[in-house]
Amino acid sequence: MKCPFCKQADSRVIDSRAAEDGTTIRRRRECNGCGKRFTTYEVVEKLPLMVVKQDGRREVFKRDKLLNGIVRSCDKRDISMERIVTLVNEIERDVRNTMEQEVASAKIGELVMNRLKDFDEVAYIRFASVYRKFADISSFLEELKVLQAHKSEEMKDK
Ligand SMILES: [Zn+2]
Repeated sequence: MKCPFCKQADSRVIDSRAAEDGTTIRRRRECNGCGKRFTTYEVVEKLPLMVVKQDGRREVFKRDKLLNGIVRSCDKRDISMERIVTLVNEIERDVRNTMEQEVASAKIGELVMNRLKDFDEVAYIRFASVYRKFADISSFLEELKVLQAHKSEEMKDK
């Protein structure tokens, strides 16, 4: 940290205080060159969560993108925006709970599908069809079978 008076880089910390909200730290420093005192601020860096796409490209995780994808899947369904936003919150929490700085887009897709399965059947199928890009009708039917198996398992639980 350069001294603002003599520009020397060598200084020592004589006092540190965290701001009330805990996001900034104020440090009082003394220059080892000229002996003058100055203050520096440290701010906690909020690291963006990165999404690693299938081709290896990375982009910043965007909640809006996730929300839009789910809104599209829920089109013309009897689902309030409030429920969708709650769902997106849960998915975002799932993603952040992976505690990874970089999350594969495939992993995010899985987390979305896991939540959608119990949320709305049609939305799930729509999302899955876009996300998995069903190559043919048989892979689509395969997905339906998985969903139905999941449903009947649920029935057993009840
Ligand atoms: Zn100095």
